[in-house]
Amino acid sequence: MLEVGRRVGDRMALMIDPACEYNTWGEALLVGRACDEAGFFWLEDPYKDGGVSMFGHQRLREKIETPILQAEHIFGLEGHVDFIVNGGTDFVRAGVYEDGGITGAMKVAHAVEGFGLDVEFHGGGLAHRHCIAAVRNANFYELGLLNPKVKSSKPPIYPPEFTDELEGVDSNGHVAVPQGPGLGVEMDWDYINAHKVDTITRE
Ligand SMILES: [Mg+2]
Repeated sequence: MLEVGRRVGDRMALMIDPACEYNTWGEALLVGRACDEAGFFWLEDPYKDGGVSMFGHQRLREKIETPILQAEHIFGLEGHVDFIVNGGTDFVRAGVYEDGGITGAMKVAHAVEGFGLDVEFHGGGLAHRHCIAAVRNANFYELGLLNPKVKSSKPPIYPPEFTDELEGVDSNGHVAVPQGPGLGVEMDWDYINAHKVDTITRE
């Protein structure tokens, strides 16, 4: 972590998401202090409370300088507001898949704005591109499961600029927002049908 800060910390924002893997609050504190030293922009979901302890993260915030980002594992509007009011986080995670679709996630985003804080949407996807484009108070579009040595980690059901691969990120670090109706992109039904393994009908 310190080496990453030394090499690139002066030219890019550094964020870490241990995905609740550290065993103890103490380990989270040690990593948080390293984040301070390396100049990280945020520390997300560090330890095995599952990312849900308002009190634990409030105490962690008292001990480190690096802002923390929580609430990926808090679902819905009221839970997010409770987490903020109780001092459990700095940045606030929201997501259309966890918080009640676009409508629910946007409620969280606006509530976060009302507290003067920033909302960060959890993961990629067309809906999140639209949500981020529709709010003032978001900083980054999150892409996961990426590696420069892996050509593709997601099925190419959308045009390349919308498939959340590294090649879809431009030289400024930006991604495109679809302009069509709905989510704004036609799915590649030829590819989907050619790779179909089963069909489920919901009525
Ligand atoms: Mg996360």
